[in-house]
Amino acid sequence: MIEHLAASRCPQCRLVAAPPSRWCPRHPVEMTPTSVMGGGEVVSFTTLLSPPEGFRSPLHIALVDLVGGARLVCHGDKTQGLKIGSWVAIEAVGNIYYFSHLGALDRARLFWRRAGRAGERMSAIAQSLAKRAWKGRLRGES
Ligand SMILES: [Zn+2]
Repeated sequence: MIEHLAASRCPQCRLVAAPPSRWCPRHPVEMTPTSVMGGGEVVSFTTLLSPPEGFRSPLHIALVDLVGGARLVCHGDKTQGLKIGSWVAIEAVGNIYYFSHLGALDRARLFWRRAGRAGERMSAIAQSLAKRAWKGRLRGES
C-alpha cells in the first residue's frame, strides 16, 4: 500500500499542509489533522553536490505535488530518469520525506485515485519499491 502521510487541512480555505501545521499559512485559522496519500507528481527536482550536514552527497531533491493537495520537498536515491510530471511514491521517515519511482501500474492507480475513482486496493509494488529503496539507503547503496 502507498503510505498515508500526516497532514492538516484548513476548514476555511481547504488548504492541505504536510507536514501538518497548527495554523493555516494563509490566515489565522486552526487546521484540523488529516492524512494524504503518499504519492504525487514531480513539480521540480535538483541535485545538491554540497548537501547540508548529515546528508549524503549527492543529495537528490524533488518538489512533489501530492494527490491530496500539499506540496512537499522530498529526498531520493536518484533523480535519474525523473521528469517534471513523473509520478513518485513518498514515505515519511521522521520529518524527512523520501520519494521513489513508481511503476506504470502504480502511476495508473494514483491517477485513478486522483481522478476520484474507486481504488481501495493500493499498490503492493510501490510499497516494495519504496522498501527496497529504503533498505538500500540503510546499507549505503545507491
Ligand atoms: Zn486557510
